[in-house]
Amino acid sequence: MPTIMTHAIVPLALAAAAGPSRIAPKVALVGAGLAMLPDADVIGFAFGIEYADPWGHRGATHSLVFATLTAAGIALVWKRARSLWAFFFLALAMASHGLLDTFTDGGLGAALWWPFDNARVFAPVTPVRVSPIGADFFSARGLETLLSELVWIWLPCAVLAFAGWRLRHATPPRP
Ligand SMILES: [Zn+2]
Repeated sequence: MPTIMTHAIVPLALAAAAGPSRIAPKVALVGAGLAMLPDADVIGFAFGIEYADPWGHRGATHSLVFATLTAAGIALVWKRARSLWAFFFLALAMASHGLLDTFTDGGLGAALWWPFDNARVFAPVTPVRVSPIGADFFSARGLETLLSELVWIWLPCAVLAFAGWRLRHATPPRP
């Protein structure tokens, strides 16, 4: 996985680009939470679920279907999530986690197509260094991970947020 904070930055950048009239700040925050949530699947290790199992790490919770169902579930109980913008944003926020994981250079791929296909997939390019787990995080390897995330995720996110903001605030040409 990329570092957990890095997952949250993707929906926040999308929300910043779309603007608060389309994505309310509260919805943006829930989206950030959803983007971090799939890695809660590591808890499965404690219950003997193997990495490669459908419900193992980077399994079902990292799929597009799971993200869509979660967004639908939230829309059922939360009025704010019922606009088309909010629904797609929340689904995309959670799906972005699995998608981002496919760009990392280690571990197993993400089960993006679950439940139709349990295959773990990677993107054609994997420029993001996989995040070391636990104490290893504070090592040269951890630093390398952060740097690769900075270049491949934070920078494009900042550009996206700025471009969206700029578009929304562009002054119309004078007649
Ligand atoms: Zn993950």
